[in-house]
Amino acid sequence: MDVASRCKRLRELFDEAGCDALLVTSIDNVRYLTGFTGSTAMVLVTGAGALFLSDGRYAEQAREQLAEAGVDAEIQIGRAQEQLELLDRATRGIRRLGLEAASVTWSLERRLSERLGQLASTGGEIVPTEGLVERLRLVKDAGELARIELAADLADVALAQVRQRVAESPTEAELALELDVEMRRRGADDVSFETIVASGPNGARPHARPSSRRIEEGDVVVIDFGALVDGYHSDMTRTLCAGTPADPRLVDLLDAVLAAQRAGVRATRAGVPAADVDAACRRSLEEAGFGSLFAHGTGHGVGLQIHEAPALAPGSADILVEGAVVTVEPGAYLPGAGGVRIEDTLVVTANGARALTKSTKDTTP
Ligand code: ZN
Ligand code: ZN
Repeated sequence: MDVASRCKRLRELFDEAGCDALLVTSIDNVRYLTGFTGSTAMVLVTGAGALFLSDGRYAEQAREQLAEAGVDAEIQIGRAQEQLELLDRATRGIRRLGLEAASVTWSLERRLSERLGQLASTGGEIVPTEGLVERLRLVKDAGELARIELAADLADVALAQVRQRVAESPTEAELALELDVEMRRRGADDVSFETIVASGPNGARPHARPSSRRIEEGDVVVIDFGALVDGYHSDMTRTLCAGTPADPRLVDLLDAVLAAQRAGVRATRAGVPAADVDAACRRSLEEAGFGSLFAHGTGHGVGLQIHEAPALAPGSADILVEGAVVTVEPGAYLPGAGGVRIEDTLVVTANGARALTKSTKDTTP
Protein backbone atom coordinates (compact mmCIF):
# COMPACT_ATOMS: atom_id res chain seq x y z
CA MET A 1 0.00 0.00 0.00
CA ASP A 2 1.17 3.48 -0.81
CA VAL A 3 0.33 5.17 2.50
CA ALA A 4 3.07 7.80 2.42
CA SER A 5 1.59 9.81 -0.50
CA ARG A 6 -1.88 10.13 0.97
CA CYS A 7 -1.38 13.27 3.08
CA LYS A 8 0.04 15.02 0.03
CA ARG A 9 -2.99 14.07 -2.05
CA LEU A 10 -5.27 15.21 0.78
CA ARG A 11 -3.63 18.67 0.73
CA GLU A 12 -4.58 19.00 -2.92
CA LEU A 13 -8.25 18.97 -1.83
CA PHE A 14 -7.88 21.77 0.73
CA ASP A 15 -8.54 24.71 -1.63
CA GLU A 16 -11.78 23.31 -2.91
CA ALA A 17 -12.86 22.44 0.65
CA GLY A 18 -12.08 25.97 1.85
CA CYS A 19 -9.50 24.99 4.47
CA ASP A 20 -5.74 25.38 4.97
CA ALA A 21 -5.41 22.39 7.31
CA LEU A 22 -7.57 19.45 8.32
CA LEU A 23 -7.90 17.86 11.74
CA VAL A 24 -8.61 14.19 10.94
CA THR A 25 -10.60 12.58 13.75
CA SER A 26 -12.25 9.60 11.99
CA ILE A 27 -10.14 6.67 13.14
CA ASP A 28 -10.50 4.91 9.77
CA ASN A 29 -9.24 8.05 8.06
CA VAL A 30 -6.33 8.27 10.52
CA ARG A 31 -5.46 4.67 9.64
CA TYR A 32 -5.72 5.40 5.92
CA LEU A 33 -3.40 8.41 6.14
CA THR A 34 -0.82 6.97 8.54
CA GLY A 35 -1.04 3.18 8.74
CA PHE A 36 -1.82 3.44 12.47
CA THR A 37 -4.22 0.66 13.56
CA GLY A 38 -4.94 1.68 17.15
CA SER A 39 -8.32 2.85 18.40
CA THR A 40 -7.57 6.44 19.42
CA ALA A 41 -5.64 9.11 17.49
CA MET A 42 -5.98 12.36 15.57
CA VAL A 43 -3.90 13.79 12.77
CA LEU A 44 -3.55 17.46 11.96
CA VAL A 45 -2.60 17.72 8.30
CA THR A 46 -1.33 21.21 7.49
CA GLY A 47 -0.10 22.70 4.24
CA ALA A 48 3.44 21.53 4.90
CA GLY A 49 3.37 18.79 7.52
CA ALA A 50 1.40 16.50 9.75
CA LEU A 51 1.05 16.18 13.52
CA PHE A 52 -0.03 12.77 14.85
CA LEU A 53 -1.56 12.74 18.33
CA SER A 54 -2.38 9.72 20.46
CA ASP A 55 -2.18 8.58 24.06
CA GLY A 56 0.37 6.64 26.09
CA ARG A 57 -1.01 3.21 25.18
CA TYR A 58 0.04 3.73 21.61
CA ALA A 59 3.42 5.44 21.87
CA GLU A 60 5.46 2.53 20.59
CA GLN A 61 2.89 1.22 18.11
CA ALA A 62 2.43 4.66 16.56
CA ARG A 63 6.17 5.19 16.03
CA GLU A 64 6.56 1.72 14.53
CA GLN A 65 3.57 1.85 12.23
CA LEU A 66 4.14 5.36 10.90
CA ALA A 67 7.79 4.55 10.25
CA GLU A 68 6.87 1.32 8.52
CA ALA A 69 4.40 3.16 6.28
CA GLY A 70 7.04 5.82 5.51
CA VAL A 71 4.75 8.56 6.82
CA ASP A 72 6.48 11.83 7.56
CA ALA A 73 4.65 13.17 10.61
CA GLU A 74 5.56 14.60 13.98
CA ILE A 75 4.33 12.14 16.61
CA GLN A 76 3.18 13.49 20.00
CA ILE A 77 1.84 11.31 22.75
CA GLY A 78 -0.16 12.69 25.67
CA ARG A 79 -3.38 12.77 27.60
CA ALA A 80 -6.47 14.34 26.00
CA GLN A 81 -5.80 17.70 27.64
CA GLU A 82 -2.17 17.72 26.50
CA GLN A 83 -3.23 16.83 22.97
CA LEU A 84 -5.50 19.89 22.90
CA GLU A 85 -2.62 22.08 24.08
CA LEU A 86 -0.40 20.67 21.33
CA LEU A 87 -3.14 21.33 18.81
CA ASP A 88 -3.50 24.87 20.11
CA ARG A 89 0.15 25.53 19.38
CA ALA A 90 0.17 23.69 16.06
CA THR A 91 -2.82 25.60 14.69
CA ARG A 92 -1.25 28.99 15.31
CA GLY A 93 -1.34 30.99 12.10
CA ILE A 94 -3.79 28.68 10.35
CA ARG A 95 -6.59 30.73 8.83
CA ARG A 96 -9.16 28.02 8.16
CA LEU A 97 -8.94 24.78 10.14
CA GLY A 98 -11.11 22.05 8.64
CA LEU A 99 -12.90 19.55 10.88
CA GLU A 100 -14.47 16.31 9.66
CA ALA A 101 -18.12 17.19 10.22
CA ALA A 102 -19.25 13.57 10.07
CA SER A 103 -16.93 12.36 12.85
CA VAL A 104 -16.44 15.29 15.25
CA THR A 105 -18.65 14.99 18.29
CA TRP A 106 -20.40 18.00 19.72
CA SER A 107 -18.23 17.79 22.84
CA LEU A 108 -14.97 17.72 20.85
CA GLU A 109 -16.12 20.65 18.75
CA ARG A 110 -16.87 22.61 21.91
CA ARG A 111 -13.53 21.72 23.48
CA LEU A 112 -11.69 22.68 20.30
CA SER A 113 -13.58 25.97 20.06
CA GLU A 114 -12.62 26.78 23.65
CA ARG A 115 -9.05 25.55 23.48
CA LEU A 116 -7.79 26.77 20.13
CA GLY A 117 -7.10 30.28 21.40
CA GLN A 118 -4.06 30.73 19.16
CA LEU A 119 -6.19 30.04 16.11
CA ALA A 120 -8.78 32.63 17.18
CA SER A 121 -6.18 35.22 18.23
CA THR A 122 -4.68 35.27 14.75
CA GLY A 123 -8.06 35.57 13.01
CA GLY A 124 -8.45 31.89 12.24
CA GLU A 125 -11.70 29.98 12.11
CA ILE A 126 -12.97 26.42 12.22
CA VAL A 127 -14.75 25.21 9.09
CA PRO A 128 -16.74 22.00 8.58
CA THR A 129 -15.67 19.67 5.76
CA GLU A 130 -17.35 16.58 4.33
CA GLY A 131 -15.80 13.44 2.93
CA LEU A 132 -12.31 14.70 1.99
CA VAL A 133 -10.31 11.64 3.06
CA GLU A 134 -13.26 9.47 2.00
CA ARG A 135 -12.84 10.83 -1.52
CA LEU A 136 -9.24 9.55 -1.60
CA ARG A 137 -10.39 6.25 -0.13
CA LEU A 138 -12.79 5.72 -3.06
CA VAL A 139 -9.93 4.59 -5.31
CA LYS A 140 -8.15 1.55 -3.94
CA ASP A 141 -4.42 1.14 -4.62
CA ALA A 142 -2.85 -2.20 -5.49
CA GLY A 143 -2.13 -3.07 -1.85
CA GLU A 144 -5.69 -2.33 -0.80
CA LEU A 145 -7.10 -4.37 -3.69
CA ALA A 146 -4.86 -7.29 -2.78
CA ARG A 147 -6.22 -7.27 0.79
CA ILE A 148 -9.87 -7.09 -0.31
CA GLU A 149 -9.22 -9.81 -2.89
CA LEU A 150 -7.70 -12.07 -0.24
CA ALA A 151 -10.67 -11.39 2.05
CA ALA A 152 -13.00 -12.34 -0.82
CA ASP A 153 -11.00 -15.51 -1.54
CA LEU A 154 -11.21 -16.60 2.10
CA ALA A 155 -14.99 -16.19 2.02
CA ASP A 156 -15.21 -18.19 -1.23
CA VAL A 157 -13.18 -21.05 0.19
CA ALA A 158 -15.13 -21.04 3.46
CA LEU A 159 -18.46 -21.25 1.64
CA ALA A 160 -17.23 -24.07 -0.59
CA GLN A 161 -16.21 -25.88 2.57
CA VAL A 162 -19.50 -25.59 4.46
CA ARG A 163 -22.22 -25.25 1.78
CA GLN A 164 -23.14 -28.95 1.81
CA ARG A 165 -24.14 -28.48 5.46
CA VAL A 166 -27.25 -26.59 4.25
CA ALA A 167 -28.68 -30.03 3.34
CA GLU A 168 -27.89 -31.47 6.80
CA SER A 169 -30.32 -29.42 8.93
CA PRO A 170 -27.91 -27.38 11.05
CA THR A 171 -29.31 -24.38 12.92
CA GLU A 172 -28.67 -20.98 11.34
CA ALA A 173 -26.31 -20.14 14.20
CA GLU A 174 -24.31 -23.36 13.75
CA LEU A 175 -23.89 -22.76 10.03
CA ALA A 176 -22.85 -19.14 10.62
CA LEU A 177 -20.27 -20.25 13.19
CA GLU A 178 -18.86 -22.89 10.82
CA LEU A 179 -18.41 -20.26 8.11
CA ASP A 180 -16.71 -17.92 10.55
CA VAL A 181 -14.37 -20.64 11.81
CA GLU A 182 -13.39 -21.60 8.25
CA MET A 183 -12.53 -18.00 7.40
CA ARG A 184 -10.51 -17.52 10.59
CA ARG A 185 -8.74 -20.85 10.23
CA ARG A 186 -7.61 -19.90 6.74
CA GLY A 187 -6.16 -16.60 7.83
CA ALA A 188 -8.92 -13.99 8.16
CA ASP A 189 -8.19 -11.54 11.00
CA ASP A 190 -11.90 -11.49 11.80
CA VAL A 191 -15.27 -11.67 10.13
CA SER A 192 -16.20 -8.64 8.07
CA PHE A 193 -19.47 -8.21 10.00
CA GLU A 194 -21.84 -10.53 11.85
CA THR A 195 -22.52 -13.38 9.40
CA ILE A 196 -26.14 -13.59 8.25
CA VAL A 197 -27.68 -17.03 7.80
CA ALA A 198 -31.43 -16.54 7.31
CA SER A 199 -33.51 -19.59 6.45
CA GLY A 200 -37.13 -20.05 5.47
CA PRO A 201 -39.32 -17.13 6.61
CA ASN A 202 -36.30 -15.51 8.34
CA GLY A 203 -34.88 -14.87 4.87
CA ALA A 204 -37.58 -12.27 4.31
CA ARG A 205 -35.73 -9.98 6.72
CA PRO A 206 -32.68 -8.62 4.89
CA HIS A 207 -30.66 -8.19 8.10
CA ALA A 208 -31.83 -11.18 10.11
CA ARG A 209 -29.44 -12.48 12.79
CA PRO A 210 -28.63 -16.21 12.81
CA SER A 211 -31.07 -17.95 15.15
CA SER A 212 -31.56 -21.39 16.65
CA ARG A 213 -33.96 -22.23 13.81
CA ARG A 214 -33.04 -25.48 12.05
CA ILE A 215 -32.72 -25.34 8.28
CA GLU A 216 -35.41 -27.65 6.88
CA GLU A 217 -36.08 -29.37 3.58
CA GLY A 218 -37.72 -26.83 1.28
CA ASP A 219 -36.01 -23.79 2.85
CA VAL A 220 -34.34 -21.09 0.86
CA VAL A 221 -31.31 -19.84 2.82
CA VAL A 222 -29.72 -16.38 2.49
CA ILE A 223 -26.05 -16.35 3.54
CA ASP A 224 -24.41 -12.91 3.68
CA PHE A 225 -20.88 -12.72 5.07
CA GLY A 226 -17.29 -11.69 4.52
CA ALA A 227 -13.77 -11.78 5.87
CA LEU A 228 -11.51 -9.08 7.29
CA VAL A 229 -7.86 -8.96 6.16
CA ASP A 230 -5.51 -6.29 7.54
CA GLY A 231 -8.40 -3.88 8.04
CA TYR A 232 -10.05 -4.52 4.66
CA HIS A 233 -13.46 -6.16 4.23
CA SER A 234 -15.15 -8.45 1.74
CA ASP A 235 -18.89 -8.88 1.32
CA MET A 236 -20.79 -11.64 -0.46
CA THR A 237 -24.30 -13.07 -0.41
CA ARG A 238 -25.38 -16.37 -1.84
CA THR A 239 -28.83 -17.96 -1.63
CA LEU A 240 -28.92 -21.75 -1.32
CA CYS A 241 -31.84 -24.16 -1.39
CA ALA A 242 -32.31 -27.14 0.91
CA GLY A 243 -34.08 -29.24 -1.70
CA THR A 244 -36.86 -27.79 -3.86
CA PRO A 245 -38.24 -24.54 -2.39
CA ALA A 246 -41.45 -25.28 -0.50
CA ASP A 247 -42.98 -22.05 -1.77
CA PRO A 248 -42.96 -22.12 -5.61
CA ARG A 249 -42.90 -18.31 -5.75
CA LEU A 250 -39.35 -18.46 -4.39
CA VAL A 251 -38.24 -20.40 -7.49
CA ASP A 252 -39.30 -17.44 -9.64
CA LEU A 253 -37.66 -15.03 -7.20
CA LEU A 254 -34.36 -16.91 -7.46
CA ASP A 255 -34.34 -16.51 -11.25
CA ALA A 256 -35.43 -12.88 -11.07
CA VAL A 257 -32.81 -11.84 -8.50
CA LEU A 258 -30.04 -13.64 -10.38
CA ALA A 259 -31.03 -11.81 -13.58
CA ALA A 260 -31.19 -8.48 -11.70
CA GLN A 261 -27.76 -9.03 -10.18
CA ARG A 262 -26.31 -9.77 -13.61
CA ALA A 263 -27.95 -6.60 -14.96
CA GLY A 264 -26.38 -4.60 -12.14
CA VAL A 265 -22.92 -6.08 -12.71
CA ARG A 266 -23.22 -5.37 -16.46
CA ALA A 267 -24.13 -1.74 -15.71
CA THR A 268 -21.11 -1.28 -13.42
CA ARG A 269 -18.30 0.64 -15.14
CA ALA A 270 -16.09 3.67 -14.47
CA GLY A 271 -17.89 6.92 -15.31
CA VAL A 272 -21.38 5.53 -14.73
CA PRO A 273 -23.62 7.18 -12.10
CA ALA A 274 -23.99 4.77 -9.17
CA ALA A 275 -27.76 5.39 -9.34
CA ASP A 276 -27.78 3.84 -12.84
CA VAL A 277 -26.49 0.53 -11.48
CA ASP A 278 -29.28 0.60 -8.94
CA ALA A 279 -31.78 1.44 -11.69
CA ALA A 280 -30.55 -1.50 -13.81
CA CYS A 281 -31.23 -3.95 -10.96
CA ARG A 282 -34.56 -2.34 -10.13
CA ARG A 283 -35.74 -2.36 -13.77
CA SER A 284 -34.85 -6.02 -14.13
CA LEU A 285 -36.85 -6.96 -11.02
CA GLU A 286 -39.75 -4.73 -12.07
CA GLU A 287 -39.92 -6.42 -15.46
CA ALA A 288 -40.09 -9.77 -13.69
CA GLY A 289 -42.99 -8.44 -11.62
CA PHE A 290 -41.07 -8.28 -8.33
CA GLY A 291 -40.07 -4.61 -8.20
CA SER A 292 -42.06 -3.98 -5.02
CA LEU A 293 -40.16 -6.75 -3.18
CA PHE A 294 -36.76 -5.02 -3.57
CA ALA A 295 -36.77 -2.81 -0.52
CA HIS A 296 -33.14 -1.71 -0.11
CA GLY A 297 -30.35 -0.06 -2.07
CA THR A 298 -28.35 -2.04 -4.64
CA GLY A 299 -24.93 -1.73 -3.09
CA HIS A 300 -22.17 0.18 -1.35
CA GLY A 301 -18.45 0.77 -1.38
CA VAL A 302 -16.24 -1.64 0.56
CA GLY A 303 -12.81 -1.00 2.04
CA LEU A 304 -11.64 -0.07 5.53
CA GLN A 305 -15.34 0.03 6.35
CA ILE A 306 -17.88 -2.57 5.30
CA HIS A 307 -20.20 0.21 4.15
CA GLU A 308 -18.46 3.21 2.66
CA ALA A 309 -18.78 5.50 -0.37
CA PRO A 310 -20.09 5.26 -3.04
CA ALA A 311 -23.79 4.52 -2.47
CA LEU A 312 -25.43 2.48 -5.23
CA ALA A 313 -28.97 3.55 -4.50
CA PRO A 314 -31.81 5.63 -5.94
CA GLY A 315 -30.94 9.32 -5.83
CA SER A 316 -27.21 8.74 -5.23
CA ALA A 317 -25.09 11.54 -6.70
CA ASP A 318 -21.95 9.35 -6.72
CA ILE A 319 -20.20 8.52 -10.00
CA LEU A 320 -18.31 5.23 -10.17
CA VAL A 321 -14.57 5.72 -10.56
CA GLU A 322 -11.94 3.31 -11.77
CA GLY A 323 -10.41 1.42 -8.85
CA ALA A 324 -13.47 1.73 -6.60
CA VAL A 325 -14.67 -1.44 -4.89
CA VAL A 326 -18.44 -1.80 -4.67
CA THR A 327 -21.11 -4.40 -4.06
CA VAL A 328 -24.08 -5.22 -6.27
CA GLU A 329 -26.68 -6.98 -4.12
CA PRO A 330 -30.29 -6.88 -5.26
CA GLY A 331 -32.74 -8.89 -3.21
CA ALA A 332 -36.41 -9.71 -3.08
CA TYR A 333 -38.31 -10.62 0.06
CA LEU A 334 -41.67 -12.33 0.52
CA PRO A 335 -42.89 -11.82 4.11
CA GLY A 336 -43.71 -15.13 5.74
CA ALA A 337 -42.14 -17.19 2.96
CA GLY A 338 -38.51 -16.22 2.52
CA GLY A 339 -36.02 -14.08 0.66
CA VAL A 340 -33.40 -14.14 -2.04
CA ARG A 341 -30.31 -11.96 -2.30
CA ILE A 342 -27.19 -12.32 -4.41
CA GLU A 343 -24.18 -10.10 -3.83
CA ASP A 344 -20.70 -9.76 -5.23
CA THR A 345 -17.83 -7.47 -4.30
CA LEU A 346 -16.56 -5.91 -7.54
CA VAL A 347 -13.65 -3.72 -8.67
CA VAL A 348 -14.79 -0.95 -11.01
CA THR A 349 -12.70 -0.79 -14.20
CA ALA A 350 -12.80 1.35 -17.35
CA ASN A 351 -14.47 -1.48 -19.25
CA GLY A 352 -16.75 -2.94 -16.63
CA ALA A 353 -16.48 -4.72 -13.32
CA ARG A 354 -14.21 -7.48 -12.08
CA ALA A 355 -15.74 -9.74 -9.44
CA LEU A 356 -13.56 -10.44 -6.41
CA THR A 357 -16.13 -12.83 -4.89
CA LYS A 358 -16.28 -15.84 -7.18
CA SER A 359 -18.46 -18.47 -5.47
CA THR A 360 -20.92 -20.23 -7.74
CA LYS A 361 -24.42 -18.77 -7.83
CA ASP A 362 -25.82 -22.28 -8.15
CA THR A 363 -28.33 -22.77 -5.34
CA THR A 364 -27.37 -26.40 -4.70
CA PRO A 365 -25.67 -26.94 -1.34
ZN1 ZN B 1 -23.40 -8.47 2.31
ZN1 ZN C 1 -23.22 -5.56 1.22
